[in-house]
Amino acid sequence: MAAPGTPLARRLRTEIEAAGPMPVSAFMAQALTDPDHGYYTTATPFGAGGDFITAPEVSQMFGEIVGAWLVHVGGAIAAALPDERINLVELGPGRGTLMADILRVARLRPDLDRRLDVHLVEASGKLRQVQAATIAAARPNRAEPRWHDAFADVPEGPTVVVANEFFDALPIEQAVMTQAGWRQRVVALAGDGFAFAAGESPATVPPQFADMPAGTIFETCPHGEQVAAEIAARLTRFPGAALLIDYGHDVPAPGDTLQAVRRHEYADPLHAVGEADITAHVCFGALAEAARNAGAQAFGPITQAQFLSDLGIAARADALVAAGPGRRTEVETALARLVSPDAMGALFKVMALASPGMGALPPFPQH
Ligand code: SAH
Repeated sequence: MAAPGTPLARRLRTEIEAAGPMPVSAFMAQALTDPDHGYYTTATPFGAGGDFITAPEVSQMFGEIVGAWLVHVGGAIAAALPDERINLVELGPGRGTLMADILRVARLRPDLDRRLDVHLVEASGKLRQVQAATIAAARPNRAEPRWHDAFADVPEGPTVVVANEFFDALPIEQAVMTQAGWRQRVVALAGDGFAFAAGESPATVPPQFADMPAGTIFETCPHGEQVAAEIAARLTRFPGAALLIDYGHDVPAPGDTLQAVRRHEYADPLHAVGEADITAHVCFGALAEAARNAGAQAFGPITQAQFLSDLGIAARADALVAAGPGRRTEVETALARLVSPDAMGALFKVMALASPGMGALPPFPQH
């Protein structure tokens, strides 16, 4: 009889049998982006029929406001460097909806639009095809975007970056407090499935959390910090900025935020491996520190509600309703979903990174 579980679960079991329990980061990385069986590589997860809905899929208003910010920043760079092309980069573009909405806004500034080269960082071949179709529809008769496996592969040059719900999908490490101190948390075999366990390797946590009750969990995202540092290093060599939007918290705090979602329901991250979305809260403080250490400025995070409201999403909603009164309920529902604190408005946050000399970046407060 075949072993239970998904094909990926069976393969991970074999790996653990051979090499011992694996760090949470290795488990998460394979569950999400394994080339044959990873969740993002095999599924088309977004939208009402998928497993979850993201802000750009809720309403075009999200991408239009984000686009207005990027066009404002890109326009300032373009004015200062009249002869150079500008990279417009999206990390983890999903179905391409956000980039399509951004490009529709950019068309309102033809002087800038014609100098933009679109670069997409995407692990999934299947999603790359969806993105190509969505973006070709929004930007007909223009060069195709270029796809990359990692931000570091995007060509050098002035760069504006956007990422929505990308960092929450990057593999995290967990540490767990034991009687013997902090240990790396691992995934081990348990019966037919998997269970979390304390590994043998000691783990380091910030000094203020050195002494916690046994069982306490502390998360870090070395992969996310590395991407933030790579973007920041680029922004020290060329003018540019990045807008990072995700759900998470401001300062490091203990807690287990690893979660899986399947068909709009919470699921066990160790079940249905490769068939559920696994994410963790983003620690914006850690990303900001990584970016500052690499030489860039970091602003925020501010809440998604503040970002969208300060940049005029309510006026945009009014304009959409005026143009199509039959859409009033749809537009108002979408607006509430994006900005209301008990929907996406407060848990989701927005942070900006910018080149060292760049001035104020509204609506972020100056520091
Ligand atoms: N930004 C989109 C999709 C968010 S889901 C939206 O808001 O709707 C996460 C996206 O990141 C997917 O496109 C996924 O395939 C991609 N992704 C996840 N991990 C990745 C990695 N390590 N490298 C590149 N892309 C990744």
